[in-house]
Amino acid sequence: MASLGPKFGSQLNAAHTPGGVLVAATMADMTWQARAACRGPQARAFFPPGAGERRHERAEREQRAKAICAQCSVQTACLEYAVSIRERHGVWGGLSESERRAMLKTVDA
Ligand code: SF4
Repeated sequence: MASLGPKFGSQLNAAHTPGGVLVAATMADMTWQARAACRGPQARAFFPPGAGERRHERAEREQRAKAICAQCSVQTACLEYAVSIRERHGVWGGLSESERRAMLKTVDA
């Protein structure tokens, strides 16, 4: 399997495979990831640094990520994927984790 790049490669392999959820998800059509606008160094904007991120820094980082998402041709597929696996971290499909949680509460209600 080809590398999915910094965002998908490292995040998926390191954080999600042990839970097993991703394994099933990756069996689905994941070809959209090859067209992700967040591949490359800008992937750092999509996840918080290890520690110590202040509220305004987080807001600025998420805005940078969302600006990239707004230009991404696979935003819908990305958001559907993140919601389907209940992704808890990072900006996916133009929504932060808190925004996805709020959306899921609405859907689940
Ligand atoms: S919508 Fe955003 S997070 Fe999803 S693939 Fe595109 S740039 Fe990456």
